[in-house]
Order: sequence, then structure tokens, then C-alpha cells
Amino acid sequence: MPNMSLNKTPAEEQAPLVRNKNFLEVSLGYTPEQAIEEARRCLNCKNKPCVAGCPVNIHIPEFIAKVAEGDFKAAYEVISDTNALPCVSGRVCPQENQCEERCVRGIKGEAVAIGRLERFVADWYMKNVSAMPEKPQSNGIKVAVVGSGPAGLTCASDLAKRGYQVTIFEAFHTAGGVLVYGIPEFRLPKAIVQSEVDKLKALGVDLQLDVVVGRTITIDELMEEGYKAVFVGSGAGLPMFMGIPGESLAGVYSANEYLTRVNLMKAYLPDHDTPLKRSKSVAVVGGGNVAMDAARCAKRMGAEKVYLLYRRDEEEMPARREEVNHAKEEEIDFRLLCNPVRILGDEKGKVCQIECVRMRLQAPDESGRRSPKEVVGSNFFLPVDAVIMALGTSPNPLIRSTTPGLETNRKGCLVVNEDTMRTTREGIYAGGDAVTGAATVILAMGAGKKAAQAMDEYLSGK
Ligand code: FAD
Ligand code: SF4
Ligand code: SF4
Repeated sequence: MPNMSLNKTPAEEQAPLVRNKNFLEVSLGYTPEQAIEEARRCLNCKNKPCVAGCPVNIHIPEFIAKVAEGDFKAAYEVISDTNALPCVSGRVCPQENQCEERCVRGIKGEAVAIGRLERFVADWYMKNVSAMPEKPQSNGIKVAVVGSGPAGLTCASDLAKRGYQVTIFEAFHTAGGVLVYGIPEFRLPKAIVQSEVDKLKALGVDLQLDVVVGRTITIDELMEEGYKAVFVGSGAGLPMFMGIPGESLAGVYSANEYLTRVNLMKAYLPDHDTPLKRSKSVAVVGGGNVAMDAARCAKRMGAEKVYLLYRRDEEEMPARREEVNHAKEEEIDFRLLCNPVRILGDEKGKVCQIECVRMRLQAPDESGRRSPKEVVGSNFFLPVDAVIMALGTSPNPLIRSTTPGLETNRKGCLVVNEDTMRTTREGIYAGGDAVTGAATVILAMGAGKKAAQAMDEYLSGK
């Protein structure tokens, strides 16, 4: 008999006012008993609507059935058939808009907690079984991967498993892309990402860190060195600013810079001397996941007050509902329908206030979105000593500008054939945020996988 409870089996979490002072993981995940209880909520639907909602089409009912039987190893094997990083996706996937949105149990009650089950299975496997993969027999063909985010890691892994001699070139001193420099430790522990990188090394992938492709070496030079194909997974790390007065004052950060200092350069650890001012009162501008991460990090870095300034209302916020709720529980002060117009500095050129104006939402336009309009004369000031801009990012133009023949669209994203992920240059493939603009981890992984398949066909002449 299935478990007909209308609600998901809850997972333990750190209490909000405890966790907003540490960087330990917020959700503690399922115990085996809780996982089995939740797995029994799945109806094993014949038409599997949940699978169609997953960008990498994990065989969801099959893996959940194995969890219900208590055979967690078999459940892992089902997941890893289509997903190389379940420890990551089980934690950060926007499940509510993907697999769980399609789950029939969500029609009357809550969807099956597919993401939590995936995380449980991946964590269980890592703790109880995880063995390093064996290095496959090399076919001697050299392939380069630019960037070690989820797109690059997945592409490199799939190519290495097929015998290619893969080298990843990464600009930072640590591999993982946004998984290590953007998403904070309390949502995705970095040891998990490192263990995935270690598996790649075991497969024989060579990791060249601190190499900026386009500066240290160009793609054409790589090809001259004997690389037969290149995958570009360089992400979308170029931050946007508002263009308002005061953005160059000391104490104004892009979310990318702030999060990199906190996460990658470990500013929160006492034995790291990363330069990052401890602020008392911080304004974070934006309403997406990046804004939530920046605000929650600022709180954990000791700020007494963290304002979240967003020009629309809560319903329109692009951030995941879970992240919004977590941020509110952690005492982030949401100031909605509010837009900054100026940042003010003190006599030393340091941020001391932010001037905002109230906004009103207008009637929906043809696209159904309600655009915000300034309420004239509604200006007000907030006392802050740091401002973090989380307004979105776009791909860095470096690779395009140093690789003749690579075409980009008007947003600066690389143009690819969607079936093969091949760019406008033969032998050069691309995927992830570099192609879509800022998107999701699972889409980047899916693109890396698709590109590896097409590169194999190209290189082997199949
Ligand atoms: P990236 O992860 O950006 O990796 C690109 C890598 O390429 C980087 O390591 C970069 O240093 C390297 N690189 C760039 N240029 C060069 C060069 N010229 N030479 C060598 N290396 C280069 N998605 C979710 O699904 N769920 C979430 O909860 C979520 N939260 C997020 C929170 C934050 C703060 C941010 C910033 C993003 C978040 N995302 C989330 C989005 C997600 O992380 C990205 O969509 C995903 O990481 C894109 O993967 P990628 O491999 O294309 O690029
Ligand atoms: Fe759902 Fe993401 Fe897992 Fe797919 S990868 S089943 S969308 S949590
Ligand atoms: Fe199980 Fe929901 Fe998928 Fe049906 S839709 S198989 S109940 S997870």
C-alpha cells in the first residue's frame, strides 16, 4: 500500500537563528527510514509525467521504487545512468518547476520529494559505497574543455569514459565553477564538489588551473598543440550594474565578487585573510537566487541588518520559493516594490547610505508581466555600509573576441546547433550558461552531456 499522506515527509533543518550564524548545511537530509517513507508516496505512474519534467530524464519512478525497497545502491545505479552529479542536483535543482511540478501527487497535496530522495541516495552512496572509477583505455585523441563548471565537468567526464585524453583549462585556482565560487557552503558543501572533481582525475582527466583561455592561451593555439576538439563551458560570469550614481564607491560589490570572496576565498574562516570588510548593514539589490545567496551570506558574515531590495513584489521574484522562505526565516529584511536610485558615500568615499524610491506595478503587458513604475516623490534613505548588486550576469566576451569565427547572439551568448551543441566553428562545441545565459546547473550538465556525445561522433567519424 502506498503512503497516501498529502504532505512530503519533512527533512530536518538547522534552526533559522542558529544557521544564520554559521556556514554549515541548512538541510540535514533524510534518514533511511524517512527516505523509505517518502518513497512509498510514489504511485509508480505508468506514463511517468515527472520524467518529462527532468531536463536529463532521470528514470524517477524506477529509482524511487528501489528506495522504497531499501535497495539504495540499486537506486543510485538508476540515477547515475543519466545524471553524473546527483549529490549536486538533489540539492540545488529547482525541482518545484521541473520534475516535482509534473508529479501527480502534487494535484491534491504536495508532490513526491524527488529532489530530497535523489540527494539521500547520492549521499548514501558516497558514504557507503563510493569507489573511484577506473581509468579507461586511452584512444590517444586529445580534447580540451574550457571551464570546470557543471557543463565542463560533465562533458569531460563523458569524454574521458569514452577513452579521450581530456584536459580541462580553468581560470580559477579551484575547479567547480559556480558550484564552488557562487553557491554557498550552506546550500552545497564544497567537499561534495571536490569528490566529483577527484573522480574526474581518477578517470585520467588533466586539470590545468589558473589558465585563462583567450589570455594565457587561445583556442586556436590549443588546436595547434594537437587538441582535436574543444568544448567551451565558460559560463556567464560578467556581472551587470544599475548605472546609478555611487556604484564605484568602496563597499559596492557585484554579487559574483562578494560570493567569490566568501565562498571560494573562504572569507568566513578565521584563518583566511581574504579582504572583505565586515559590514554592519548591507543592502542586496535583486530578487533571484543569487540575491538570496548574497543576502544570506552577508547575514552569516555578521551583518546586523540585511535589506533585500527588489523593484517588483514577492510573487514576481525569480528566486526559488524555498530560498525566499529560508532568507525570511533568517531575518533578511525584504523591501519589495523598492528601487535604488543613488548610493551615497562618506568623506572617505565609503558607502554610508542608499537612496531608494517606491515602485508600483502596472497592469500586465502582452507578455503577462506587470512592469514596475516609480512613485514620484516617494524617495527614502537606508543607512548601509555595503551594497551588493545581484542583477544578473552575461557571458564574458573574452573567448568570442579571441576566437575568429565564433558567433554570438545579441546577449553575447555563443550560437550553437541545439542538436549537437556545435558552435559556428568546426571542432568547437559549447554549452551551459555560455550558450543560454545564466540558467541552471542541471541544464548545464545536460548540455555538457549532449556535446560529449556529438564530439565523440565527430571525432570517431561515426
Ligand atoms: P559555470 O558554473 O559558471 O562555470 C564556468 C567556469 O568557466 C568557471 O569556473 C569559470 O572560472 C571558467 N571560465 C570562464 N572563462 C574562462 C576562460 N576564459 N578560461 C578558463 N576558464 C574560464 N542553478 C541551479 O540550478 N540552482 C541553484 O540553486 C543555483 N544557484 C545559483 C547561485 C549563484 C550565486 C549563482 C551565480 C548561480 C546559481 N545557479 C543555480 C546557476 C548555476 O550555477 C549555473 O547555471 C551553472 O553553474 C552554469 O554552469 P556552467 O558550467 O555553464 O558555468
Ligand atoms: Fe528533478 Fe533535478 Fe533530479 Fe531531474 S535532476 S529528477 S529535475 S531534482
Ligand atoms: Fe511517482 Fe509522482 Fe512520478 Fe507518479 S509523477 S511516478 S507519483 S514521482
